[in-house]
Amino acid sequence: MSDKPLNKSRRDAVKTMLGGLAAVPVMNLVATAAAYAQDLPAVDPATDPTAQALKYVADATQADRAGAARPGLPAAEQVCNNCQFHQAYAEDGWVACTLFPGKKVAAGGWCTSWTKQA
Ligand code: SF4
Repeated sequence: MSDKPLNKSRRDAVKTMLGGLAAVPVMNLVATAAAYAQDLPAVDPATDPTAQALKYVADATQADRAGAARPGLPAAEQVCNNCQFHQAYAEDGWVACTLFPGKKVAAGGWCTSWTKQA
């Protein structure tokens, strides 16, 4: 009697377990980043020099996105929540951004560094 079907079944089971184990840290990172963003102070465009340099606004509809058009999405659809530099999708309206370490930006915000998420 051949043991190939059993070995294949065992291999499939091991692959499934390893795949599940690999997904746990990724899920934790996303959840941690989202929770982390909630605790950060919001970027204040009135006082933050980086925000002023990048023309960050918490409400993207108030920005001249068409004038600073970036490739990848229509200007009207470009917001922090679909930018390459945000660190997790917002659940509470805020996201962490790699360009503003230690602070959070509005998910519906925008700045001139907006880049289409890969
Ligand atoms: S880099 Fe992206 S996520 Fe960060 S403030 Fe600018 S548009 Fe928003």
